[in-house]
Amino acid sequence: MNRRVLLTGGLALASFGGWFAYRTFRPLPSDVANAQRAEPLPDADTTDWAALSNEEWRERLTPVQYRVMREEGTERAFTSPLADEHRDGVYHCAGCDLDLFSSEAKFDSGTGWPSFWEPIAENRFGFNTDYRLWYPRLEYHCSRCGGHHGHVFEDGPPPTGLRYCNNGVALAFRPSTAQDEPA
Ligand SMILES: [Zn+2]
Repeated sequence: MNRRVLLTGGLALASFGGWFAYRTFRPLPSDVANAQRAEPLPDADTTDWAALSNEEWRERLTPVQYRVMREEGTERAFTSPLADEHRDGVYHCAGCDLDLFSSEAKFDSGTGWPSFWEPIAENRFGFNTDYRLWYPRLEYHCSRCGGHHGHVFEDGPPPTGLRYCNNGVALAFRPSTAQDEPA
């Protein structure tokens, strides 16, 4: 092995080390994690969501929804039609119907999952750090029913710079009625 090969190898190793340290130790978007539930959730729903058993959730959800929302699974990329949904409307929680995202905050991330730069209000989600991959990710779940929805990353577009990467099966889309009618 000559010096050039050694030097190139060393540089590649150093680059990987820097990238690894960045991905592993960079801070999470703590202002998102610390968002306070400033206001109560909108409607006067009387269901005691926390009291629902796993069996009751299995009856309410499809198997893939149950896997994602109650066992923190991830649907396969590019499997949700909502990733390519461009109509105006509101995205609700598939578990409890809480309104979570407006189509105005949706963008095409190219990841194959519906992506948004902000929820309808800060009180819609709770956050946890998820260490299941080899770097920490900020997992978010519905404030009302506790269903897992996805992860939030700091590579989104302005104005927030955030990317809420949401499982499509965890969402129920309601298009604005006006556009459903022929002009
Ligand atoms: Zn919910």
